[in-house]
Amino acid sequence: MIRNFLFHRVNPQRDPLWDPMDVALFEKCIEHISNKYDVVLFEDLALDTDALKQNKDYATIMFDDGYKDNIEYALPILEKYNVKASFYIVTDCIDNNIPTWTNILEYLFQNTKGDEINLPFDFLPEALQIGKFSDTKDRLSFVSDLKPYLKTLVHSKREVVLQSVRKTFSDVELPEIMMSWGDVKKLKSHGHYVGSHTATHSMLGSMESEQDIERELIDSGNKIKLELGYFPLTISYPVGSYDQRVKQLSEKTGYKIGLAVKQDVYDPAKDDLFEVSRIELYNEPWFKTKMRISNSLEDLKKLIKYK
Ligand SMILES: [Zn+2]
Repeated sequence: MIRNFLFHRVNPQRDPLWDPMDVALFEKCIEHISNKYDVVLFEDLALDTDALKQNKDYATIMFDDGYKDNIEYALPILEKYNVKASFYIVTDCIDNNIPTWTNILEYLFQNTKGDEINLPFDFLPEALQIGKFSDTKDRLSFVSDLKPYLKTLVHSKREVVLQSVRKTFSDVELPEIMMSWGDVKKLKSHGHYVGSHTATHSMLGSMESEQDIERELIDSGNKIKLELGYFPLTISYPVGSYDQRVKQLSEKTGYKIGLAVKQDVYDPAKDDLFEVSRIELYNEPWFKTKMRISNSLEDLKKLIKYK
């Protein structure tokens, strides 16, 4: 069994929309996981049939998106506990020093002075086509409905909405929270693994065109090859979105591993290498995080469901 633990931001600063994991909690996680399990790189273990035969209780540490705070706050803790981790980066976000679309969306609504938005697209429900705001609370409430809806749209439609939001809230300057290529190279030189999380953080499973899916896979892989000298073994599907086409295209374009988010352990004996489960950890009370780590929270949920 392999327990793949997924992290995003690690930061002492709180965020009302998408709270990063607090640094102290992150350290607790790493201390606990490294005491309890054999922590390895998934890329080293998953393709090594001899190591897998030993059937130990393995764990891996993974980060999606490529946030600068991973370097600032998480890396020193990983080094303290002598843990190697894998980082899955969005190559366009690093090239342009802009956050992923979900982050941008929330940040714009949180920071604009705009009091109105018009999104006259008939594929949006009426309630999301017009928003009028008297304060930040109104804006946040609107975006908390808009974001999950956008996740359900196909790529091209979502892009139209995102562009319209960026244009409307052009008073906001985007935050610089992503790693630089210098940071990425530092991770590699410290023995960590760097893989792809696509070129633009598109939800691959929602894209209509197979050519567009291939572009995301190839462009990000080639960019990593150009900067780091290898085509990555791993594609981490943004927002855990994938389907049969995405799995096949990932393999076709040269990847060996596809990472999902299924809040479950990965069993190398029977699970698909292009549908690898990961357990995401959040900024939650320690007892809850501990249950997620041992996976008892999911077991408990299943138990309740089956009753
Ligand atoms: Zn992501």
